[in-house]
Amino acid sequence: MSKYIFVTGGVVSSLGKGIAAASIGKLLEARGLTTSLIKCDPYLNVDPGTMNPFQHGEVYVTEDGAETDLDLGHYERFTEAQISKDSNITAGKIYYSVITKERRGDYLGKTVQIIPHITDEIKKSIRKGARESDVDVAIVEIGGTVGDIESLPFLEAIRQLRWEMGEHSALNIHVTLLPYIKAAGEQKTKPTQHSVGRLREIGILPDILMCRTERPITKEQKEKIELFCNVDKEAVVEAGDVKHIYEVPVSLKKEGIDDLILKKLHISREDKDLTEWRNFVLKRLKNPEKEVKISVVGKYIALPDAYKSIYEALVHGGIANNARVIIDKVDSEDLDNPRDLERALKDADGILIPGGFGARGIEGKILAVQYAREKGIPFFGICLGMQVATIEFARNMCEMKGANSTEFDPQTKYPVISLLEEQKSVSGMGATMRLGSFGCKLSKGTNSYQAYKKDSISERHRHRYEFNNQYRKQMERKGFVFSGKNVQRDLVEIVEIKGHPWFVGCQFHPEFKSKPERAHPLFREFVAASIRGKDRVGRPRSQDILKAEEVGTS
Ligand code: GLN
Repeated sequence: MSKYIFVTGGVVSSLGKGIAAASIGKLLEARGLTTSLIKCDPYLNVDPGTMNPFQHGEVYVTEDGAETDLDLGHYERFTEAQISKDSNITAGKIYYSVITKERRGDYLGKTVQIIPHITDEIKKSIRKGARESDVDVAIVEIGGTVGDIESLPFLEAIRQLRWEMGEHSALNIHVTLLPYIKAAGEQKTKPTQHSVGRLREIGILPDILMCRTERPITKEQKEKIELFCNVDKEAVVEAGDVKHIYEVPVSLKKEGIDDLILKKLHISREDKDLTEWRNFVLKRLKNPEKEVKISVVGKYIALPDAYKSIYEALVHGGIANNARVIIDKVDSEDLDNPRDLERALKDADGILIPGGFGARGIEGKILAVQYAREKGIPFFGICLGMQVATIEFARNMCEMKGANSTEFDPQTKYPVISLLEEQKSVSGMGATMRLGSFGCKLSKGTNSYQAYKKDSISERHRHRYEFNNQYRKQMERKGFVFSGKNVQRDLVEIVEIKGHPWFVGCQFHPEFKSKPERAHPLFREFVAASIRGKDRVGRPRSQDILKAEEVGTS
C-alpha cells in the first residue's frame, strides 16, 4: 500500500510546485523507494488538449496517448515513475464521469452533490493514478493556489484521504512564497501565514512548508513561521532560486527534505547522495566544454512554456555532448524575406522547427527549412516541423509549385501532407488526433538509425495530418529519404535528405522521452551535428551535395 505526499501551493501561482513534486520523487527514488506522481488540475476542461498554448503552455503526451499538463513532463524527466492517462486528473474529467453516471442512473435517485459524489470520484481517481499496490510513495500535486474556489473539492478530497489512511501514511507539503520587500529590507512571512491559515480552515495542517525565496531564511524567521503556522522549524524548508531546474533536487537534499519525509512517514531507508546526478548532469550543465547555438523557429516563442519539453530535450542533448546549448528563439512570423532570414539565422549552428497547428507562421517556417537545407545547417523538424520540411522539399526540389498540407491549403494541387481517411470523418476536437506511442522501423545507413542504433523504435504522436504516400517515389528520386516507417499502417514517420550533414524530420514528438541523464538519441545527435558543423568554413549548399552524390531511387 502506498503512502501519500500531497503537495499544495499558496500565495501565488508559478512557484514551481511541479518541479518541487518531481524533485521530491527523484530524492525518494534515490533512497530506493518507488514512486508514482499525479497532477490534479481544478479546471473544467477534460484535458488541456483543446487549450491554446497561451492559456496552458505545452500539452504533454503520455505513452498511452493522454494529452496532459506539462508538469507530467517534469515528473517523467526527473523520475522513473510510470506516467499514464491516470496521472492527470482534471475537474472536467471528474464532473464528466459523475454526470455520465448520473445519466445512467447509477446514483439510484439520490441528489448528486459536490460532497460526497465529486470528492469520492476524486479520491477514487487519485487512488487509481497512485497505483497503490505497486509503489511505495504516491506524490499528488494539487494545481492552483489555496484559496481558489475551484480547487476546494480537491482539497477536501485529500483531507478525507489522509484521514482515512491514518497516522504516518500521508503528509502535506505546502509550497509557499516568502516575498522580499526591498524597501523594508525584509522577507515577509505574512502571506504564508494567511495561506496556511486558509488550509487550516478546511482541515489541512501542513507537515512541511517549502518556502520559495530569493534570499536565505534566517533562524528567527523559521521560528516565526513555526509559531504562526504550527509547523516545526525543522520542517520549514528553504527552497531558494536556482539557475537550472536540475539543481532543485540537490538544493532540497541539502535542506534534508528526504530525511524529513521518511521520518514523518515512518519509512526507513539508507541515505544516498545524488553523486551521479551531480557529476554528470550538473557538472556538464554548469561547466560545459563547448557551446552551440540552436535556433528554434516557432510561433509561440514568446511563451517559455509552449515548447517546454523541446527546450529541455535540447539542454539534455547539450549535456550528452558536454556543450552549453544556447537557444535562440525565432518567431516564424518575422521571417518573410531573404534579408530577415539571413539576419535571424546567420549564426545558427542548428535549426529546429517544433510542432504546431494552423496556417499562421507557416511560410516563415518553410523559408527556414530552405535556409537549413541549402546551407547545410543541421535541421531537426518535429511533427509540424517534419511536415513543413516535406512541403519545402516538394516545392523547391521536386517542382511541385504550391505544394502544401491540406491543413493550410485544402485546395492545394500537391497535397504532400494530408488527412488519413479515418481522420476525415472526425468532428470533435478533444482527444481525436493520432495520439500516444506507435512503433516505427528504421532504415540502416540513415541519420536516424545512426542515432538510435536499432531498427525498431516507438515514439509518441500528437497530430492529425500525415505524409501523403502518393508522393513517396517522386520525392525519393530527388533525394528525400524515408528513414522511418510505421509498417502496420504504411505511414512515413521520419524523413531525411540525402547528402545533407544532418537533416531529420520526424512525425512524432521525441522530446517527450528525453531525460537529463539520458538525452533522446535524436536530440543528442542533432546537437552533436550542430557542434560539428559549427567550425565548418563555408557551408556547402545542399543542391551541390545532391549533385555530387549519386541521387538514389531506393
Ligand atoms: N498540425 C499538424 C497536424 O495536426 C502538426 C501537429 C503537431 O505538430 N503536433 O498534423
